[in-house]
Amino acid sequence: MSIRVHALAKELKLSSKELLAKLKQFKIKAKGHMSALDEQTAKILREGLKAKPKAEAKTPKTSKPPKAKAKPKKAEAKPKKAKAKPEEVTEEKAKSLRVKIPLTVKELAIKLETKPSELIKRMMGMKVMATINQLLDEETIKGIVKEFGFSLERLPNLEDELLEVHQQEDAPKELSARAPVVTMMGHVDHGKTSLLDLIRKTKVAYREVGGITQHIGAYEVTVEGKKITFLDTPGHEAFTAMRARGADTTDIVVLVVAADDGMMPQTIEAIDHARAAGVPIVVAINKCDLPNINIAKVKAQLSQHNLVPEDMGGETIVVNVSAKTGQGIDNLLEMLLLEAEMLELKANPHRPAKGVVIESKLSRGTGPTATILVQNGSLTLGDILICGDYYARIKSMVNDRGEPVKEVAPANPVEISGLSGVPEAGEAFYVVKDEKKARDFSFRRLEEKRLKGKASIAHISLEDLYQQIKEGKIKELKIIVKADVQGSLEALLTALQKLTSKDVVAIKVIHSGVGNVNASDIMLAAASNAIVLGFHVSTESQAKPVAEKEKVDIRLYNIIYEATADIKSALEGMLEPHLKEVFLGKAQVRQMFKITKVGSVAGCMVLAGKMIKEAHCRVVRDNEEVFKGKISSLRRFKEDVKEVSAGNECGIVINNFKNTRSADIIECFEIEKIARRL
Ligand code: GDP
Repeated sequence: MSIRVHALAKELKLSSKELLAKLKQFKIKAKGHMSALDEQTAKILREGLKAKPKAEAKTPKTSKPPKAKAKPKKAEAKPKKAKAKPEEVTEEKAKSLRVKIPLTVKELAIKLETKPSELIKRMMGMKVMATINQLLDEETIKGIVKEFGFSLERLPNLEDELLEVHQQEDAPKELSARAPVVTMMGHVDHGKTSLLDLIRKTKVAYREVGGITQHIGAYEVTVEGKKITFLDTPGHEAFTAMRARGADTTDIVVLVVAADDGMMPQTIEAIDHARAAGVPIVVAINKCDLPNINIAKVKAQLSQHNLVPEDMGGETIVVNVSAKTGQGIDNLLEMLLLEAEMLELKANPHRPAKGVVIESKLSRGTGPTATILVQNGSLTLGDILICGDYYARIKSMVNDRGEPVKEVAPANPVEISGLSGVPEAGEAFYVVKDEKKARDFSFRRLEEKRLKGKASIAHISLEDLYQQIKEGKIKELKIIVKADVQGSLEALLTALQKLTSKDVVAIKVIHSGVGNVNASDIMLAAASNAIVLGFHVSTESQAKPVAEKEKVDIRLYNIIYEATADIKSALEGMLEPHLKEVFLGKAQVRQMFKITKVGSVAGCMVLAGKMIKEAHCRVVRDNEEVFKGKISSLRRFKEDVKEVSAGNECGIVINNFKNTRSADIIECFEIEKIARRL
């Protein structure tokens, strides 16, 4: 339930003007006394502004005592109590306060021996808005604790405690060689899936004759007594999506290039994705069974991309194969083992397991299941683990041959059940001892997420670049460059290169290519903390939501100079974002009606453009803006829809605004971030 400013002011015994001043101070948007405040904001304000003990001499001059005529409503005896209570221990010298992080406002109040309401009020003075059960992060807690005259001593929290065993280094004598984990990448239709299928069919060792391979997202083959694990989702998109979650799963990339087609755009993308991850590449030239192919030409192309084959004096292993005839497959596997040997991959099977989620799903009957890859340690049936936001006591484990297993060694994939929820691919898992603590941990994580909203970590953007450079957080600016044609791409790359020499921060182009900005560019940017520069191109529609979710900065330009100037000024800390409204559409309110659960809905006719759900909007009455907010619900014939275009009727709900009237105009717009020009 929202509340208007004037109503809340009355409740808090303030004038609307005073409350508006407070709101401004806390950067809460409210236009006037008729503005609505959402429930959460109102709650925080109530908690923070209600008890106004007279004792508070340090209150700023502006706040007048409550008006005398205010009736002593309810049992407002609290102020007296607060007065009687001596001030906190602020006078004492900075004693250290030992706390576990994160903790809630309530828990912190107990630690500080103060009332939560008192703490909330003090926090508001510090421009920190939080409700009583909200979790606070380390930075915030540090500030608050200091306000109260303490210094912060961080005690190991639940997560530290649970993961303690995983911090321990492996003793060299406990380490043994482990299988390499391999991902196939390359251009579409060059034969990744065919190669994976062929290897699985011919090389997976069955314990029983007639066993069937199980698609669990990864499988393991044995070659001359040695093992290789293949991830079963080919392509660099999946690879990089996992990296964006923080998981480095792959040890070796097999770059599949069709002999008849040669290097193609996605081959180059794959190379860049593998390089950004620092993973070695073994090349498989596939379809060698086809007539009229020119392998030498493919090898020359590979050399141009710094993959010089061994027989041309380079160091890249290149194997000719055919997924159709099976030619060269044994050789490829042997080469993978050779490469693995050089990498000296080791793990310790004698410790609790940790690893990463490869795939996950909700199965009917079994509940959430996940294929996980054990990266270190051994996983045993019945183990308790925390995995992303969830926890599990492993109920069952099934390997890639569909066999139930009791124990899993490092570099082995297995499908597990017993999870409390479906974790995302790329999430890490850790075996822990205490199931109750694991459950608490999961509960906290989910709670934290709920409170924070789904916000993922923001990646680097040009605006905050300088700040990060100053704080020493980044030493190089990684860029992905996309352009309309090869010529302009090269021109832009040269211009960027010239910039590098002068600045402290190096500019590193981790991927460049011709074409629109696509989802795989965004994932690469997210995984590598890079920005995306587009020249004479646009962003593909599938890439937009990914960029929004992953918070990747995309910059599109039509003039090379502008692109380099922006980067230059960003490096110098001169780039301020400039916001521009872009008109999307407008609609006229024809009639108001009420719908249970939804509330009041404005029945509208779209006059121009499109009305889009979740977009910004303003309500205009007699040519004056009466409200600015967002379209929280958009309906057409009782159906929830994403957009409605001109000439159609629709129902619109605007968040926090119920006062729409017939004949009002609702304008819909988006806010574009525009780089400041030099
Ligand atoms: P992916 O998109 O890279 O996974 O490629 P696929 O494995 O789906 O293969 C694409 C097409 O190429 C399919 O029609 C395959 O049958 C064919 N193909 C794959 N490998 C070979 C090969 O070694 N020789 C020939 N002649 N065709 C192949």
